[in-house]
Amino acid sequence: MNDSTKRFLTSQLVWIGIYFGIAVAASFLLQFPYSFLVLFAAIIPLSLYRRRRYLKKMGGGEDSFFRSGGMFGPKGIDYYCINCGTKHHQIACPNCGSKMKKAGF
Ligand SMILES: [Zn+2]
Repeated sequence: MNDSTKRFLTSQLVWIGIYFGIAVAASFLLQFPYSFLVLFAAIIPLSLYRRRRYLKKMGGGEDSFFRSGGMFGPKGIDYYCINCGTKHHQIACPNCGSKMKKAGF
C-alpha cells in the first residue's frame, strides 16, 4: 500500500465519519422522515462538492501535464532526426530508430 492509497483511504474514512456524524445528529434532533430529508439535503451537496473538487484536481493535473508538454517535450520546440530529418518528440526516431536529433523552433 503506497502513500496516495493510504491518503485516499484516510479521506474516505473521514468522509464516512462526516456522513455518519450527520446521520446520527439528524436522527437525534429530528423525527424519522425529517432526519432522512436532512441527511439527503446534507449529503447530496457534499457529494457534489467532493466530485467537483476531484474533477478539478484531475482536470488541473491534466492541464498542467499538457502545459508542460507532458511526454512530448516543451511546446514550441521541434526535434528533427539527424539521420532522416523526421520531426518527432520521442527519444528514438519513429522512422529510423536513430537517437540522434537536433532541436529547432
Ligand atoms: Zn530518423
